[in-house]
Amino acid sequence: MFEGRTTLTQFIIEEQRRVIGASGDFSGLLSDIATACKVISNAVSRGALHGTLGVRQVGAGEAAINIQGETQKRLDVIANDVMLRSNVWAGHLAGMASEELDDIVVVPSIYPRGKYLLVFDPLDGSSNIDVNITVGTIFSILRSPNPGSEANVEDFLQPGTQQVCAGFALYGPSTIMVLTTGNGVDGFTLDRDIGEFVLTHPHMTIPAETQEFAINASNERFWEPPIKRYVSECLAGKTGVRGKDFNMRWIASLVADTYRILTRGGVFMYPVDDKTRDKGGRLRLMYEANPISFIVEQAGGAATTGRCARIMEVPPEGIHQRVPLIFGSRAEVERIVGYHQDYLQGRDDSFSMPLFTTRSLFRSQ
Ligand code: MN
Ligand code: MN
Repeated sequence: MFEGRTTLTQFIIEEQRRVIGASGDFSGLLSDIATACKVISNAVSRGALHGTLGVRQVGAGEAAINIQGETQKRLDVIANDVMLRSNVWAGHLAGMASEELDDIVVVPSIYPRGKYLLVFDPLDGSSNIDVNITVGTIFSILRSPNPGSEANVEDFLQPGTQQVCAGFALYGPSTIMVLTTGNGVDGFTLDRDIGEFVLTHPHMTIPAETQEFAINASNERFWEPPIKRYVSECLAGKTGVRGKDFNMRWIASLVADTYRILTRGGVFMYPVDDKTRDKGGRLRLMYEANPISFIVEQAGGAATTGRCARIMEVPPEGIHQRVPLIFGSRAEVERIVGYHQDYLQGRDDSFSMPLFTTRSLFRSQ
């Protein structure tokens, strides 16, 4: 019954054999992460049956707020605890950092300390959890500059190009794990009958051309001109400069939007705008933008801040740093970067056109 099927465990061990000098540490770590994702998948799918939906309450019925200033869901905390507990003990890690925790987690001295650092968003898209929309876990693995010793925050502040592995688990109609170790992107589906992730999507590739874009259009009035230009051209469809019709998709769950782009192409935009400029952007560099960008680039796509910087080359200044994030099909991302260059260099007439606003999504702007 197993014939012809590759499990995640098997896949990881075979990958490790191809890397000369690789120890079992890395496979052990990935297997602990996969176990954590199975546990989280189960908790997410049980939902209201477990009484785990809704907002986490603190004190006198107040909603808990995390370091990001966001309301914490019960499942955010459960997923965070599962990730910490699954990965702390085995000796693969020197430290961890999570979206849900202000500070890094040092592996306590009762456990051996390893050579890797793990950064994660335990439950991405969790604002969607109560409406039963796909959420996920995003993770990124870095080498510790001080293997075997207590991690400090500076150890984590490495650009995305230094990642040795990135992945995300998607808790949707099926539970899927998408993974890269810098050798392409592979997708695994959880077979609940045997409790194993099975390779179902080998060598995932983002189509270069697309007719889909994803952006939160309610922010339009805050957008910068290059984004307004790109979106208005998509909306003009066949009648505009693009000469083809586009569809718009927005799940507001980064993992779900990413998976759609990995399977059928498209472009995702959470650009810097008047609303997020003070914070530097909306999404987080270390545990959202970097791992997603590593996967996207390995699948043949591109990921940028818009203003010409490759996401993975952005030097991190803090573990919770935010960045603008634009990624997806290469040709579209390059076009958007080009529009930013035109704008910054004052090359584009469309920005001074008096009728520009009539091409906008909402005419009243
Ligand atoms: Mn998130
Ligand atoms: Mn989250």
